[in-house]
Amino acid sequence: MSQKIQLYNTFSKTVEPFTSLHNGHVGIYSCGPTVYNYAHIGNLRAYVFADMLRRTLVHAGYTVTHVINITDVGHLTDDGDNGEDKLEKGAHRENKSVWDIARYYTDAFMSDIEALAIPQSAYLFPRATDTIEEQIDLIKTLEKKGYTYKINDGIYFDTSKYQDYGHLAKLDIAGLKSGARVEENKEKKNTTDFALWKLSPQLHEGQPKRKMEWDSPWGVGFPGWHIECSAMSKKILGNHFDIHTGGIDHIPVHHTNELAQSVCANGEPYVNYWMHVNFLNDTTGKMSKSNDDFLTLSTLREKGYDPMAYRYFLLMTHYKKEITFSYGALDAASVAYKKLFQFCEDSETKEGILSHSYLTSFVESLYDDINTPEAVATLWTMLKDTSLTQEDKYQTVLRMGAILGLSLEKAHKKNITIPTEIADLVAKRDLARKQKDFRTSDELRDALAELGYTVKDTKDGQEVEEL
Ligand code: AMP
Ligand code: ZN
Repeated sequence: MSQKIQLYNTFSKTVEPFTSLHNGHVGIYSCGPTVYNYAHIGNLRAYVFADMLRRTLVHAGYTVTHVINITDVGHLTDDGDNGEDKLEKGAHRENKSVWDIARYYTDAFMSDIEALAIPQSAYLFPRATDTIEEQIDLIKTLEKKGYTYKINDGIYFDTSKYQDYGHLAKLDIAGLKSGARVEENKEKKNTTDFALWKLSPQLHEGQPKRKMEWDSPWGVGFPGWHIECSAMSKKILGNHFDIHTGGIDHIPVHHTNELAQSVCANGEPYVNYWMHVNFLNDTTGKMSKSNDDFLTLSTLREKGYDPMAYRYFLLMTHYKKEITFSYGALDAASVAYKKLFQFCEDSETKEGILSHSYLTSFVESLYDDINTPEAVATLWTMLKDTSLTQEDKYQTVLRMGAILGLSLEKAHKKNITIPTEIADLVAKRDLARKQKDFRTSDELRDALAELGYTVKDTKDGQEVEEL
């Protein structure tokens, strides 16, 4: 097990050597999408980073349990405890049910990440609406321990009862207490207190009934956004786990509150390493879903960009630095990525010796706080090295590309010609699957395997590869 990885921890504000809580295994929780609209390309930056972190740890020999939650209730439009639920907002906008909105945008998110080589199979995706019971249990524990109080619109966490509140964000608690931040809910004891359970607005404001509401010991309502992540992480990763990621916008409120309530409820430390991705901005500022004019991966695809070129574009900047998106910069990344892919297409697949020295320095960059731009630079230096043969370079670039998730292996898979008898069997299997004749479909899969071919079922149909 490599002990050489170091990561920047927002909590300590320093780069720290990484050690896992459990030998050889790492638990990661990445705050997931709020599924009331498409993810914009800024949101996707957060998951490309999380994926690079996972790939680096896997390369270092760890097994990883990586959670990306699906926020399908409770995230209000002001990121705090006021405003409309984003899911209800999406439902009004499109005149659909909240459940349809959640399903549709969850599916859209899944195809976006898959296109960016963030494999769904490597992650767990719990939904907030599937863990309401666990959230209520956590609030009950906080209540029993004396951390909560009830006001007109819900149950709140009393932040003055947690000594270390605000450490993650270095919040100026004294300043906040004296009213530095605009405060809307006058009933709260402290400015920083936050909702754990919001009571149905129908009960206290006479507003129309929400679509997503549940019974609770405190009355019908819905969970606060922060408690969802505390409950989902606890359920899958336990009270205390290794790494928590998200965008830097989550530091002052969402993660600060998650941390406070988890520590107080569980009576244990929560997370060892907090990692935050900087923003991807457009020319007018931070890209945001609430501003309707945002860029999606589908827009980039419609304009002819390969999602892999966008992944490559992101890897060119360290995750802690801001990126201002421009088509000029994406074009440059696209040209570089195509060159890389072309190099692989033009190379012989067999023979060739992996350059261990280049691979070592490449990996060292990733171990150094996921320094992807430095790793990519090493890749290009290696390609320009005249002392290596084309085959050696190909072997090395393929390995580097696999660690970066650049799908370079497809350069050759794309070129395989499938013999007619194999294509016939694949077509028969396709028909069997359409007729839901899974026995025949499985038999045909076995027959193909005997002939040296494997088939993968994807949402676009079957993918055939040589074994
Ligand atoms: P959301 O779907 O809004 O809850 O956000 C999903 C993830 O994207 C979170 O980790 C956010 O912190 C992150 N995020 C939001 N906007 C940006 C941006 N412009 N650049 C990078 N990350 C972002
Ligand atoms: Zn979260």
